[in-house]
Amino acid sequence: MTSYTDIAKSLKLPTGAYIDGAFVDARSGATFETRNPYTGDLIALLPACGAEDVDIAVAAARRSFEAGVWSGMHPSERKRVLGKLADLLMANIEELAVMEAVDAGKPVADCLEIDLPETANCIRWHGEAQDKLYDQVAPTGPGALALVVREPVGVVAAVLPWNFPLLMMAWKIGPALATGNSVVVKPAEQTSLTALRLAELALEAGVPAGVLNVVTGMGPDAGEPLGRHMDVDALTFTGSTEVGRKFLEYSAQSNLKEVCLEMGGKSAAVVLSDAANIADIAETQANAIFWNMGENCTANSRIIAHKDVYDELVAELAKQVADWPMGDQLDTATRQGPLVSAEHFAKVSGLVDSGKAQGARLVAGGAGGGGLLFQPTVFADVTPGMDIFQKEIFGPVVGVTRAESDEEAIELANATEYGLAATLYTSNIAKAHRYARKLRAGTVGVNTYSEGDISTPFGGFKASGFGGRDNGIHAHEQYTELKTIWIDLGE
Ligand code: NAD
Repeated sequence: MTSYTDIAKSLKLPTGAYIDGAFVDARSGATFETRNPYTGDLIALLPACGAEDVDIAVAAARRSFEAGVWSGMHPSERKRVLGKLADLLMANIEELAVMEAVDAGKPVADCLEIDLPETANCIRWHGEAQDKLYDQVAPTGPGALALVVREPVGVVAAVLPWNFPLLMMAWKIGPALATGNSVVVKPAEQTSLTALRLAELALEAGVPAGVLNVVTGMGPDAGEPLGRHMDVDALTFTGSTEVGRKFLEYSAQSNLKEVCLEMGGKSAAVVLSDAANIADIAETQANAIFWNMGENCTANSRIIAHKDVYDELVAELAKQVADWPMGDQLDTATRQGPLVSAEHFAKVSGLVDSGKAQGARLVAGGAGGGGLLFQPTVFADVTPGMDIFQKEIFGPVVGVTRAESDEEAIELANATEYGLAATLYTSNIAKAHRYARKLRAGTVGVNTYSEGDISTPFGGFKASGFGGRDNGIHAHEQYTELKTIWIDLGE
């Protein structure tokens, strides 16, 4: 049997940006390195694109949009092409999963079982949805006919993070392409390889040249020019709140393009006094924080536990992490691979040190595990004034906070600037409904950790989100403009 390490060695890696249906170098000739975060090995040199390359990609997108080769295609044909793209992703699942694992440090087993199937499903879902949508006729008097129609917004830019490279790309391009737009993607500089391969497969599936372009490079060099571009009609972003804020400035200072932001989180799991089966909850919550190395925007990095269940929950969490398999992301037994980069490792370590210094009780982990591996870490006795309660760590670190009452638990859960997701454990149906409504978060899982699925809108309250939602049919609103067509009927 071929091992994933062997597949990694034989991968044919993309080396160009993808513009107008072809791989190209940056106009400046500049490149940047991309490395395997587990071995430190150099795996590819990619074009360090800048404003000039962005202009070329946006022009290609605009040309294809105006030519109507995609925007004017019959919806059932767009559905067929996007279905073919989903099929091609699954036909090449091993290649893409290994590429993603090597590039991002994600366990290959997760890439095979979660990232790739969900990426394909997302593209298929939006492709299939869009030829079943009807526009509206307004309730005017007999003298007029008013059509309320949705049209593609035009040229969409998508600026992406590194934690779920393919899946976040699918969350953007699935609905953007389905609704007839042309797109320019700027993947994270740490993880650009699979975006390039996906673009190549899209052409093979029948997405015309120029409709899906990928510019690689650094945020300030390639992301900012997209944010400020006068010919980009809408920009969709997933990443940190700090960078998300900049895109509102770029838009305000350029052409007032539509902006949709999916940003950071500090999601809490609230365990009420009547929650059933604390051992099961600890198992679910260990996954909710340690899955994907905690590099997950909805990672439940806080647990707020009622005093009646607090001690048992902390003890059960410690048992969960006792033998958590860490190591080479290409080994299928690995549940936790390396953090994405040395820079990110330093950020996670610094916040863990702050937890120790500010008086949280270290229950498990608390240090690196060799290279860029970081031990699954559990803190107890965390209080709202601590940095590990307030700041997004984006690593395998959870803090447990004690609440004196159910009401206080909900208040503590809401006591950060973020509002992406929350989890609530209770065996009382009335409390489940009442408190799910009180949690200020875009997604609330009750008696399970959940981000919803492709059919449910995903996004954040407060500093976690702005301007729209990913997923579900609601995502189409980001990529379409409403138009009223008023026809005088002459009476
Ligand atoms: P990041 O904000 O550092 O980078 C995201 C993207 O923005 C990258 O492509 C980067 O190159 C680009 N960028 C950076 N600086 C820029 C600038 N000045 N101008 C224009 N573009 C710039 O985020 P990250 O570290 O890649 O990802 C981690 C963050 O993403 C976390 O905060 C996490 O919570 C968030 N995230 C949110 C969701 C969600 O759906 N809400 C999902 C995944 C990740």
